[in-house]
Amino acid sequence: MTISYQLGNSLYLNLTNRCTNNCRFCVRRFKKGVGEYDLWLDKEPTFKEVIESIGDDVKYYEFIFCGYGEPLIKLGLLKKVASYLKENYPEIPIRINTNGQANLIHNKNVLVELESIIDSISISLNAHNAIIYEEICQPQFDESFKHVINFIIEATEYIPNVITSIVTYPGVDVDKCFELAERLGVRLKVREF
Ligand code: SF4
Repeated sequence: MTISYQLGNSLYLNLTNRCTNNCRFCVRRFKKGVGEYDLWLDKEPTFKEVIESIGDDVKYYEFIFCGYGEPLIKLGLLKKVASYLKENYPEIPIRINTNGQANLIHNKNVLVELESIIDSISISLNAHNAIIYEEICQPQFDESFKHVINFIIEATEYIPNVITSIVTYPGVDVDKCFELAERLGVRLKVREF
């Protein structure tokens, strides 16, 4: 199983395959991984397994908690690994790619706990309104879109670099997403479906 994998000059960390969304465009529906990497885990890795998978030859542009699932489901492990990386490789920035539902998952403000160890956060906006979000992302929690928006706003208070993203799935109004991102004061990255 692939716990960490290099794409370009960045090292991606795969802590879990679980997610609180079931997005219609999710790559997990169509592929077993990215490139040559099979990202379905036999079991969720321990701290020791994550560190061992990173190895000693560390010269990356960025560490990215991404996974084949929602990395912040594994909040405790993510914090422990991020703290280890910050301590040992302070020059390498750390990013999380997330669906923005961590405060719902853990029923607290997790951003407070990430403030000193995470440099960037990329939050999936995925839609211009709650109706489209529900339709495309099929979230487990009620009112997820509202919580994602709040998470984006709060993230700007704790994390130095906050980005949002969308996928051009049918029904998503890209212009309205740009307007929304502007109102929220964050950049928007658009990925083609
Ligand atoms: S939030 Fe990400 S991992 Fe989860 S279902 Fe959507 S695309 Fe897949």
